[in-house]
Amino acid sequence: MLIGAPGCGKGTHSAWIVEARGIPQISTGDILRAAVAAGAPLGREAKGHMDAGRLVPDDLILGLMRERLARPDAGQGFILDGFPRTIPQAEGLDRLLEERGEKLDKVVKIEVARDELVRRLTSRRVCPGCNAVYNLSFRPPRAEGVCDACGGPVVQRDDDTETTVLRRLEVYEAQTAPLVRYYEARGLLGVADGNQGYAEARAQIERLLGAAGDR
Ligand code: AMP
Repeated sequence: MLIGAPGCGKGTHSAWIVEARGIPQISTGDILRAAVAAGAPLGREAKGHMDAGRLVPDDLILGLMRERLARPDAGQGFILDGFPRTIPQAEGLDRLLEERGEKLDKVVKIEVARDELVRRLTSRRVCPGCNAVYNLSFRPPRAEGVCDACGGPVVQRDDDTETTVLRRLEVYEAQTAPLVRYYEARGLLGVADGNQGYAEARAQIERLLGAAGDR
């Protein structure tokens, strides 16, 4: 599991872990955005919360996670990105894993200074087609507005505007930060410094993951 404030690099670092370990990334944010784009009932319920920078209710999130983990690609492990985000979600995850006879191998917290988070989030751009993530200041797409990976349009997320970003950071501190202690108490936590460049942060996360999850 990768944990940390919005913009800390959970999605970016999930991408290489997926390649390196051959396991899927499970991002509740990506699942919710896909449901919104598809006009699905889940998306209709979630959209108002997401646009306001609030969390989507725990029961909806736990329901979607139960379904997602039941898919065959999750049978050999997975990397969690953006879930859990509250203590009740963490407890729900414990129950889900217990039912499956599985356990969490490692929780890596990525720490980034607040000013840097705001800067990164407001200049972030994404491809809604393939979920590739760019940043106008340090990792722009090769052709402006066009995804390097799939050729689709690259856009700003509705919730990456400054007002919503500040709200999301408050929500993180109030509701998600307490999870760090929850996992620390279980001896699962490692902390990576996400203020450094991509390569340095990646090397540190690689060391923290170590043999976690190897079977
Ligand atoms: P993210 O892409 O992880 O930043 O998530 C974008 C938005 O989706 C969040 O601001 C929440 O509104 C919603 N969301 C994503 N994951 C969760 C979660 N685990 N619990 C509640 N809301 C979530």
